[in-house]
Formats: sequence, structure tokens, C-alpha cells
Amino acid sequence: MLEARTIAELRTILGEWRRASQRIGLVPTMGNLHQGHLNLVRRALREADRVVVSVFVNPTQFAPGEDYQDYPRTFEQDWEQLEALGVDMVFAPSVGEMYPDGTKHATCIDVGDLGEILCGDSRPGHFKGMASVVNMLLNLTHPDVAVFGQKDYQQLVVIRRMVCDLHIPVAILGEPTARESSGLALSSRNRYLSENERRRAPALYHALQKASAALSAGERDFRKLEAKGCAELEEAGLQPEYFTVREAGDLAAPDPESGEFVVMAAARLGHARLIDNIVVRS
Ligand code: AMP
Repeated sequence: MLEARTIAELRTILGEWRRASQRIGLVPTMGNLHQGHLNLVRRALREADRVVVSVFVNPTQFAPGEDYQDYPRTFEQDWEQLEALGVDMVFAPSVGEMYPDGTKHATCIDVGDLGEILCGDSRPGHFKGMASVVNMLLNLTHPDVAVFGQKDYQQLVVIRRMVCDLHIPVAILGEPTARESSGLALSSRNRYLSENERRRAPALYHALQKASAALSAGERDFRKLEAKGCAELEEAGLQPEYFTVREAGDLAAPDPESGEFVVMAAARLGHARLIDNIVVRS
């Protein structure tokens, strides 16, 4: 597996692949890889001739007071896992390489209202920083496909919208959420949970499953579902930030006649902030 630390190295290698007309796949990550990330990589390997995985803990997508400094950085293990899967190149730039003039006044992508709602409400600036770095990575690699996880559902919607609005020629693919057997979605941040919290955390998925089953059975009293979901989380000792039913395509308020909903929730548990969702097609 090739390793590029600089943009110049990345471009040299990509140039060779492109001259050979190879299809390029990109999987952006912040490292500390788990099976969820590796599923995205497997998908990219199926969809492209050459796969680049970026490992970059992007400072601009952490809201003030969030865990940027503490975010787990485990590059050696990540490297080994990616090589074992047959990834062609890992791109692991420094912050200085990505933001040579600093992050403070860097040009960024305004993702509009989509970045303000739901997770954007409690994580000011997060989606702007995330979209900006994804846009940079797309500009740097010009991939044919880029793969993202459905676990970060709002992120996926923001990226699809950005790619559409800015006419970026890439296919955005969403991969299903990888879970523990308990139902808890895999996340690098699960390590912030104590043992006791880990036992309570699957309540998030279970509450989403109940709402999803009710929607599938024809329930359209969205307020009732949301109130029930929040109450279930509270009973399990989680502090819900939101529990909501939205249109799956654009996160708008749900239309009872709609054919595709997403039930989304975010909750705090100890030092962790958990998010999860289920898409419901009726
Ligand atoms: P991160 O390293 O947390 O920025 O995530 C990198 C990519 O992996 C994003 O597209 C995430 O949505 C995706 N991802 C993270 N956790 C999971 C999971 N449990 N299942 C599927 N994809 C995931």
C-alpha cells in the first residue's frame, strides 16, 4: 500500500492511475478504523480500480469544546487494516498540509440550513467544516466514487446536496451502518463509554427500531413517535438531544403521504454523544 503524506505525493500517484484510465474510489475517514469504516472500504474496492483512504482528523469540523485533542489517533493499526484489505493508497496529511495558511480564515463551504438543524444545532460549525474538508478531498483526488456511512445520515445528506449544488462530478455512495451484536452503532467515540454506559447505549437503536416498526405499520402521528422515542431514551438513562422523523431525501418535516422517512436520534450518555438512524420505506 502506498502512503502519501503530502498533496504533491498524492497527485503524482493519482496522475499515474488516471493516465491508465483507472476508476478511482475515495473513502474519507478520521482514522481509528472499525468494521464500519472497513465496510466502506470494501464497497469502494468493489466499485473502483484504485482506492484511496484518507485519514485526517479535521480540526475545522470540531465545534468549540469538542474532543479534537482527545480524538483517538491510531495510525499504525489503521495502516495495517487498510493494507490487509488491499487498499492502494492511504492519504494522511498533516493539518499544515491541508490548511497551509491556517484554519481561522480558510475559505469554507456554507451548507445552508441543512447544516444548522439537528446535529448542527448542538455542533455549531461542524457541517461547514466537514463539507469544506470533503470538498478539498474531492478536489485533490477527483474520484469517480466516494463512499460514506449512513450512520452519519445528516452528513450524507449534506454531502449529496453539496455535490449536486457545486456540480462536482462524483458518485456519492452510502453504506449501511455497522453495529455491535447489541445493536449499538460502531463509532470511534464509543470508547468514551464506561462499561455501565455501554450496556445502556443500545437503547438508542432499540427506540429507533420501535419508531421505525410503527411507521412501517402505518403510524403517521409523528409527534407521538418523537415523544415516545425521547421518553424511552430518558428511561434508559440517556439524555436525548433530538428524536425525530424526517423526509429521508432532504430532512424536511415528514409528509404523511411520503414513501421514505428517516428516524434519527442523538443523545448524550456520560462523556459520549451518540447518534443513530433508521431509514423506513413504506
Ligand atoms: P469518521 O472517521 O467517524 O469521520 O467516519 C468516516 C466514515 O465512516 C463516515 O462516512 C462515517 O459515516 C462512516 N462510519 C462511521 N461509523 C460507521 C458505522 N458504524 N457504519 C458505517 N459507516 C460508518
